[in-house]
Amino acid sequence: MARRPDVAKTVASLRRKLARWRDAGETIALVPTMGALHAGHLSLVRLARRRAAHVVVSIFVNPAQFAPAEDFSTYPRTFETDLAALAGEKADLVWAPENVAVMYPDGFSTRIVPAGPAKAGLEDAFRPDFFAGVATVVGKLFIQVAPDVAVFGEKDYQQLKVVTRMARDLDLGVKVIGAPTVREADGLAMSSRNVYLTPDERAVAPVLHRVLTLCAKKIATGHSVATILAEGREVIERAGFTLDYLEARNAETLGPIASGKDGPVRLIVAGKIGKTRLIDNVGV
Ligand code: AMP
Repeated sequence: MARRPDVAKTVASLRRKLARWRDAGETIALVPTMGALHAGHLSLVRLARRRAAHVVVSIFVNPAQFAPAEDFSTYPRTFETDLAALAGEKADLVWAPENVAVMYPDGFSTRIVPAGPAKAGLEDAFRPDFFAGVATVVGKLFIQVAPDVAVFGEKDYQQLKVVTRMARDLDLGVKVIGAPTVREADGLAMSSRNVYLTPDERAVAPVLHRVLTLCAKKIATGHSVATILAEGREVIERAGFTLDYLEARNAETLGPIASGKDGPVRLIVAGKIGKTRLIDNVGV
């Protein structure tokens, strides 16, 4: 059996554990997660191990990034299984605040409210407080752990851009690295929320990735972006999704593009099937 990673539950204990490595001049990578770990998360841990001497994985279901009607209370929590999976990947330390007050003490009043990619009119249009919640918790994690590098998944593409921008804007001294999306055999992006899908919804869900890849191919060959996206939206909705958006954006700024030549282009989608909201994206 692989050795279970050490677990820190308070900021003081985290700092004590990290000090040993810092004092020895050893590098640290951070992989922030909300737990319910799957192969996508574990791929980030493996990438992190290649980039630093020690890997810290944070597990914290961050209430600040859930709107009142969203799934904070029902979000899957599988801490013991997560620890076993992280042991298998030889993560060194798990940072798991023992309760919400460790992160948000009584009277908490300071938030990071990002603009730029956080106002691209994608996730922010449907989850207005989401990126302030993400930036605040990730900003705190970067300050608490002070990692040399932090690994985020391209699966949450707008989030990756927001966090990268924030680290630079606030001189947090962390190099943010993006990792490719890990998918099921039928193309569905792995997500902790896939467990919510009924068998019928699960059978429909890969349409997101199918449409993304088809649209990407057509845009690459010079077809009209507007026409391709209109067709793509129709296919996704006919399959049973309530679509929030399917957009082609500049892959760096997330700003709008008029044609495939305004690239590099990223295709980004979000929609609901039943009660479950799924997101995905691909490069062109
Ligand atoms: P979460 O726990 O869902 O907040 O995700 C934690 C990190 O894992 C984020 O950086 C996500 O982008 C990343 N992630 C989630 N799903 C995947 C996936 N299928 N492939 C790669 N990274 C992922």
